[in-house]
Amino acid sequence: MVCKHCGSQGIPVDRITVIVHTKEEHWHEVGDDMYFCPSPECDVVYFNDEVCLLKEHVKSRVTLKEREHPIPLCYCKGVTLKDVENAVRNGANTLEDVRRATGLATGRECRIANPMGRCCLTAYPSLVKEVLNRHKEAQNL
Ligand SMILES: [Zn+2]
Repeated sequence: MVCKHCGSQGIPVDRITVIVHTKEEHWHEVGDDMYFCPSPECDVVYFNDEVCLLKEHVKSRVTLKEREHPIPLCYCKGVTLKDVENAVRNGANTLEDVRRATGLATGRECRIANPMGRCCLTAYPSLVKEVLNRHKEAQNL
């Protein structure tokens, strides 16, 4: 299903995931067929045919929709983009190094803890790779 606001292809999420991250006063709008809108520019977080839940209706900070720190990456282990940047600055060169240093993507609560209902590294692997690449480029200057 496609987001009515931005036209992005929605990612199916479980009802329980939507409930956990949505403000209580909007729980009655949450259906069994909810989707997550992955577009960073779009204010819609969850939607189905009838309902659009916007950022303001959601109580969690959503990785792909935040522009200011703290930007959460791994919800299970509470790892932010800043934590990853610090790990890289302190010598982490690979994804595996970052995982070891921060605990990123080592949790098991993704289905509930992450507003997208999936593991951070599956959901947005490029965010961590960008940090690694930026650091490598800076070193080669
Ligand atoms: Zn959208």
